[in-house]
Amino acid sequence: MPPYIFEKRNGRASILHMAEEPIKLYQYNTLGALMAGLYGGTMTIGELLTHGDLGVGTLDSIDGELIVLDGKAYQAKGDKTITELSDEVKVPYAAVVPHHAEVMFKQRFTATDKELEERIESYFDGENLFRSVKIHGTFAKMHVRMIPKAKEGTKFVKVSEHQPEYEVENVTGTIVGIWTPEMFHGVSVAGYHLHFITDDYSFGGHVMDFILEEGDVEIGAIDQLDQAFPVQDRKYLFARLNIDELKQDINEAE
Ligand SMILES: [Zn+2]
Repeated sequence: MPPYIFEKRNGRASILHMAEEPIKLYQYNTLGALMAGLYGGTMTIGELLTHGDLGVGTLDSIDGELIVLDGKAYQAKGDKTITELSDEVKVPYAAVVPHHAEVMFKQRFTATDKELEERIESYFDGENLFRSVKIHGTFAKMHVRMIPKAKEGTKFVKVSEHQPEYEVENVTGTIVGIWTPEMFHGVSVAGYHLHFITDDYSFGGHVMDFILEEGDVEIGAIDQLDQAFPVQDRKYLFARLNIDELKQDINEAE
């Protein structure tokens, strides 16, 4: 029996989680490979979306930020455009999960990202499980960046030195992402990795900081980590990675 039931509602694929099945965070490829400059897309959006309906990632040639919201995938590029992605588009790195809200609360007064994160973490059962995060609301400020397209082999940390950043005011939209326990730093980015997209799909990117005016916050449970590797990608298989450098790069770039 498949772990999830997919349902098409209003043209959107949604995943009905079956309570008896564990909720798996599916990570495709490794941050290490990305940091080292392996930017070639090797998994299709179509396949990625069978593993989850909420998540983050990047595109082939790190051409912008991948935002997975409600079972659909979007690309936020450095030129400030948003495109909905078709199933054939390939990604080099992504993390998705069938988001299943366990804790929901309303944020009724203005909060900075730090204040909201503190409130979110107050609902965690300890610090050792991954969580999915979804925040829909009106943002007094939203500051994002988009990783710009780069040639394979150029180190991520080098590319990230010069990336477009935008700050907008009074936007309504959704933040999606993953919270990673400290002990998994390296496998993923410890703490929050959040991407944002407006309700009208006109603006989005990798979240740097924000001020939420009011909104609805959902924290999802995650029971398992499913780490998939690009097993047919020769570049990945035979890449010589400098692990100390990788850890430093993740700290700097993410
Ligand atoms: Zn990101």
